Amino acid sequence: MLITETVKETVDRLSTVKGKGATIGFVPTMGALHEGHLSLVREAKNDNDFVVSSIFVNPRQFNDLNDLINYPRDIKKDTEMLQSAECDLLFHPSEEEILTQPATELFNFNGLDDVLEGKFRPGHFNGVAIVVKRLFEIIKPDKAYFGLKDYQQLLIIHKITKDHNLPVDIIPCPTQREEDGLAMSSRNQRLSKQERKQATLLYEVLKMVKIQSGFSTISEIKEHVERIFNKTKEVRLEYFEIVDMYSLEPIKAWAQSKNVIACIAAWVGNVRLIDNIILFS
Ligand code: AMP
Repeated sequence: MLITETVKETVDRLSTVKGKGATIGFVPTMGALHEGHLSLVREAKNDNDFVVSSIFVNPRQFNDLNDLINYPRDIKKDTEMLQSAECDLLFHPSEEEILTQPATELFNFNGLDDVLEGKFRPGHFNGVAIVVKRLFEIIKPDKAYFGLKDYQQLLIIHKITKDHNLPVDIIPCPTQREEDGLAMSSRNQRLSKQERKQATLLYEVLKMVKIQSGFSTISEIKEHVERIFNKTKEVRLEYFEIVDMYSLEPIKAWAQSKNVIACIAAWVGNVRLIDNIILFS
């Protein structure tokens, strides 16, 4: 696996690869890799001749300085994991290489960022979009792979590629879970043993919601979810929403949409976790 740290070296290497007519699959990450990330690399490997992954902890997408400071970093282990997944090039740039402009670029997400994560993390998606667009412009991939775990991010990145005519296909990939259902996340490392057990509540609730969606109203389900979290002091619900999969607008009745997803965010100790489940589409 090649490892590059500068934009110039990356562009040079990739122009040789593209010169040979190879297709490029791209998996952007913030490191602290787990099986979820590697599943994206494997998917990219299946579809493309050459796979690039990036590791860049993007300071512009953090609204909580503590979260940025405590974000797990282990480049040695990450490099080994990417190698094991047969990634062809790891781009591991410094902030100076990526954040060359002041953060003035403002994206219009047409309301997609007003709800769910966007409501609780103002500016988060603008920070994501600045860096992902920059990475796309450097790598110029044919396809880029994103996890359904960060569903709102996936939708927003799809929108910016359309709005900015970026010639890249966005490929959604299924959420990888631990055996007990917890969605894999770099932040899981920060959970204590006790918190790790409590964190399974998010997916347990989502599975229950999926079953209940066959016979309960949305308000009954929302009340039920709130009751469960009110009883569980160790896990603090930040939001639970049932929304249309494409507009992300909360729905009040099942008949309002044919494509519906339930999204959740909760704090376990001082770790914030998100998850979602498609109810029907
Ligand atoms: P991150 O390093 O958290 O920014 O994630 C990088 C990419 O990996 C994003 O596209 C995420 O949606 C994806 N990802 C993170 N966790 C998972 C997971 N458990 N399953 C599938 N994809 C994931």
